[in-house]
Amino acid sequence: MEKELLYKQKSAYEIISDDEVKKAYDYCEDYKKYLDASMTERLAVKTAIDLAEKAGFREFQPGKEYKAGDKIYKNIRKKALILAVIGKMPIEAGLNIAGAHVDAPRLDLKQVPMYEDSEIAFFKTHYYGGIRKYQWVALPLMLHGVVALMDGSVVDVSIGDEENDPIFVITDLLPHLAADQNKKTLGEGITGEALNIVIGSAPDKEAEKDKVKYNILKILNEKYGITEEDFLSAELEAVPALKAKDVGFDRSMIGAYGHDDRVCAYAELRAILECAAPEKTAICILADKEEIGSEGVSGMQSQAFESFVSELCKIQGADMYRCFENSFCISADVLNAFDPTYPEVSEKRNNAKINYGLGVCKFTGARGKSGSNDASAEVIGKIRRMFKEDGVVWQLGELGKVDQGGGGTIAKFMANRNIDTIDAGVPVLSMHAPYELVSKLDCYMTYKGMAALYKSK
Ligand code: MN
Ligand code: MN
Repeated sequence: MEKELLYKQKSAYEIISDDEVKKAYDYCEDYKKYLDASMTERLAVKTAIDLAEKAGFREFQPGKEYKAGDKIYKNIRKKALILAVIGKMPIEAGLNIAGAHVDAPRLDLKQVPMYEDSEIAFFKTHYYGGIRKYQWVALPLMLHGVVALMDGSVVDVSIGDEENDPIFVITDLLPHLAADQNKKTLGEGITGEALNIVIGSAPDKEAEKDKVKYNILKILNEKYGITEEDFLSAELEAVPALKAKDVGFDRSMIGAYGHDDRVCAYAELRAILECAAPEKTAICILADKEEIGSEGVSGMQSQAFESFVSELCKIQGADMYRCFENSFCISADVLNAFDPTYPEVSEKRNNAKINYGLGVCKFTGARGKSGSNDASAEVIGKIRRMFKEDGVVWQLGELGKVDQGGGGTIAKFMANRNIDTIDAGVPVLSMHAPYELVSKLDCYMTYKGMAALYKSK
């Protein structure tokens, strides 16, 4: 009786079989490969399309008739992606949607980025998303992105990924001379305008001035055919030059840049790739711009989603608003894992823990849940039933103790569309740091949770 009345959570290691632990670890081998090939939102979309094509997905053709089991995808300006498997039920019965984002905090180059000072050349940057600036100095960086040229062509730039590529770095003060800096707060010690990336030091002897900068422009022109002016229409992102690695003697965790939120993106992607003829139409969203508020044409506030779903509805002569009203969405987004080194920011009973499975967040937000989706009891009830049926180990979490801080996800923007929505994802240690930490079992349970959603009625 006592057992039945009390709610007690257990680690997934205590619940699942050794066989399933092995399955989870195998799943994570594939995840690490996806992650290493997806260091930016553009690369994450490209990698996802490659995997989708292999699994039989084809680019969506407006006006074409689609039937149950058909697999399609819509590329949203190369920075976001929507995949769908058409369900057996009419589309007005609603969609089962999993939405994660593939953008991650990083350093974007400014539009006039290059300068030389004291015979060292640099790139100026403007950070993207919530970073702690002190974490980005003295860290190996690589560059990925595109340059749009005057002739209309777009050049891909990728430096630092290959074993023999050079990498880049931002300098930090030596401790011997940091007496003044050490007196500043952690937030003020390194400023945004100090995040200047070192890109070279060898001069071009023939140049009249800025010899180092000129030498680098010559190298870039030779390799990519670009000039300094072309940076005006470039989108270049500096990200940590670090690969995903197993962490711990027991290899139970994965350290990597950009788990938030490629760890949930991969979970829902993998689940939809394996999803055959579901009852309801299954939708997987890989969104952009979540880290800056889901703004912009490729973010979840954009009508790109309506544009795609309305096309699907048109084929069946269905009403999109009715479809939305009957839909269910998991906003697949990471949450903070309890960190015993910093227990003071959490309330232990309500904080997610690593290895305790997929973390469900009823609400995010700040100052009394402001800016949060705050899912209903009924929505959580549905999740409980769904996960129990499919053996998904899960837990509830909240973003730190009351009034400690806050944040948001795409959940509220999905809910604004009159779609029942709940946040659920992988608990992360050191979230938004250049190297984040997750547990392998939680990654796997998130994938299982997404698979359960896709097959639900
Ligand atoms: Mn984030
Ligand atoms: Mn996220």
